[in-house]
Amino acid sequence: MGTPLIDNPATPSDGLMRASDGRIMLAGLGREELANILADFGIEPKKIRMRTKQLFHWIYNYGVREWDDMTNIAKPMRAKMERVFSLARPEIVERLISKDGTRKYLIRMAPGIEVESVFIPDVSKTGALCISSQVGCTLTCKFCHTGTQRLVRNLTAQEIALQVLIARDDLGEWPTTQENRKLTNIVFMGMGEPLYNTQKVGDAIDIICDPEGLGIGRRRVTVSTSGVVPDIVPMGARTNAMLAISLHAANDELRTQIMPINKKYPLAELMQACRDYPSLSNSKRITFEYVMLKGINDSPKHARELINLLRGIPAKVNLIPFNPWPGTDYECSDWDVIERFADMVNAAGYASPIRTPRGRDIFAACGQLKSESEKMRASEKRRLRESASESMGEYDNL
Ligand code: SAH
Ligand code: SF4
Repeated sequence: MGTPLIDNPATPSDGLMRASDGRIMLAGLGREELANILADFGIEPKKIRMRTKQLFHWIYNYGVREWDDMTNIAKPMRAKMERVFSLARPEIVERLISKDGTRKYLIRMAPGIEVESVFIPDVSKTGALCISSQVGCTLTCKFCHTGTQRLVRNLTAQEIALQVLIARDDLGEWPTTQENRKLTNIVFMGMGEPLYNTQKVGDAIDIICDPEGLGIGRRRVTVSTSGVVPDIVPMGARTNAMLAISLHAANDELRTQIMPINKKYPLAELMQACRDYPSLSNSKRITFEYVMLKGINDSPKHARELINLLRGIPAKVNLIPFNPWPGTDYECSDWDVIERFADMVNAAGYASPIRTPRGRDIFAACGQLKSESEKMRASEKRRLRESASESMGEYDNL
């Protein structure tokens, strides 16, 4: 085989992901990678397209994990493939279910490469899976727990797509054509900055959105960025996905203070990239995320700055109550302050839902993901869990 297909340093030199028994793992690969592997496997060139289509269909439409289920492939061929290829998934190291139904998975993609993804039920009447694009993050937004974990490495397209396969396995939502599926939306709001891994995120979106596979609509995929300006428009053109911007402050001084990336790409440039985002319209608005930090960015003056900044952009503002994590100095704004802020933004003509914190009791809420979370001391976890359930109760009553 020529160049490695997957840049995973923890896998053997051919770059392919291996199951624990040493066989090559097929789940999560794109059509082109599957075709290359089949060619190396010795499939006749004129049959490669057909075989790739069959495998892709079984893996992504039916989620099969047994070779015998691939009924349109002759038995001897199945047996031959089974000796070399595995349909297994990577190990789920931890699976937690919150009392609100949120599910968090810690997945070991390779030794030392652990990734979190979170399924949130009841988003857009169905449910959304929040997936990771990197292990750790190079950016150091002050309010974000992931930002305290150094970047271990970018995820491959296979590792990104596998997060979706694993959630669908767990939810029992095979085949793809099943009605009333809950996993209909994907948000790149897990660990890492997707626009620092654009190639693999783009490839993964192709796999996730393939109509003959997992069948997620492109407009049901949202890529969230802290504001990597040069990659915003190309990402939109490449993927046709929805865009979310982690804004959190509407003046440069404050934004640079809490999000160092703003120094490199200040607000004027960021907002221009938003205006240039492909096929923006009132039905394809940009989501601006705004974390509510007590005494930092939550006053009426800040709300007015935000409204001015958004002028002319088809936008929706998601107000996120700050989720605490061990060691942070920030606190969440009081509820009446959040409501006043929401009312002002709403009165200016922008939808401004307040995001109900989900899965705080299992540290699955926005900004709480960090795959070394098992290193947290038990007493620390207990204290956080207690304060989280108190504040969740508060929100639940509203
Ligand atoms: N790196 C990308 C993708 C992560 S999305 C980005 O920053 O957009 C995760 C979202 O949760 C971002 O909007 C992030 O700013 C927000 N967030 C981070 N820490 C948070 C916290 N402690 N409480 C609430 N939201 C947080
Ligand atoms: Fe990285 Fe996003 Fe967290 Fe900032 S908010 S540290 S970009 S994951």
